[in-house]
Amino acid sequence: MAITIKTEQEIQLMRESCRLLADVFQSLEQAVRPGISTMEINILGDQLIRRHGCIPNFLHYNGFPASICVSVNDEVVHGIPSKHRILQEGDIVSLDAGLIYKGYHSDMARTFGVGQISPEAQRLIDATRESFFAGIGKARPGNHLHEISNAIDAYIKPFGYGIVRELVGHGIGRHLHEDPQVPNFAQLRRGPRLRPGMTLAVEPMINMGRADVEWLDDDWTVVTQDGSWSAHYENTILITEGDPEILTLYESRQPEN
Ligand code: MG
Repeated sequence: MAITIKTEQEIQLMRESCRLLADVFQSLEQAVRPGISTMEINILGDQLIRRHGCIPNFLHYNGFPASICVSVNDEVVHGIPSKHRILQEGDIVSLDAGLIYKGYHSDMARTFGVGQISPEAQRLIDATRESFFAGIGKARPGNHLHEISNAIDAYIKPFGYGIVRELVGHGIGRHLHEDPQVPNFAQLRRGPRLRPGMTLAVEPMINMGRADVEWLDDDWTVVTQDGSWSAHYENTILITEGDPEILTLYESRQPEN
């Protein structure tokens, strides 16, 4: 499948799809607290998506049984919500979700601290987020796709964290997963040239320990092999003539320098 270039009309629909998803995440962030179950987070997210008149695109995707992926501590991604999994003070929880608005998909993820978390956990969350911004600093026309990958890798390397390799970012639009794949680790080849109108989900998944992951017996939940904690940060972005537009960003973010 070729990389799709969105028309101006499609871009408007992508913007709206992403804006609504970001709105859902803003509410979910406020709901994360000690004592809430991962199923309660899923139900809330599902309701918020449908209240916007949208469809949760993760539900039933390849058979996934929920609308929100809720992954706790050493769970990297694709955690299945459960009423028996209660968030505890000091946990970190990664929420990953998307929706469909008028046929157009959005996709984003955040890792939140539950109550007071350790400085080490906070550092992991911050580095994962900042690696995204390092990556999309290269997301400009004329550059090549893998400059994003290389920049994420270069940002993470000094921390000694493991970058997950089995799961990567992706193009997005009329489908949740479109070409191209967007790896989060250094690439030998340059990859395709970036062009205005491309929409990409860029999503570093970073482990405090080693990069290796494995799948639980539920065939969904990805966990770190060494049991170290993992963070995830994802936005859907639009390649423009200049700086990329971050379509799912809802937080005000202070530039680093
Ligand atoms: Mg994604």
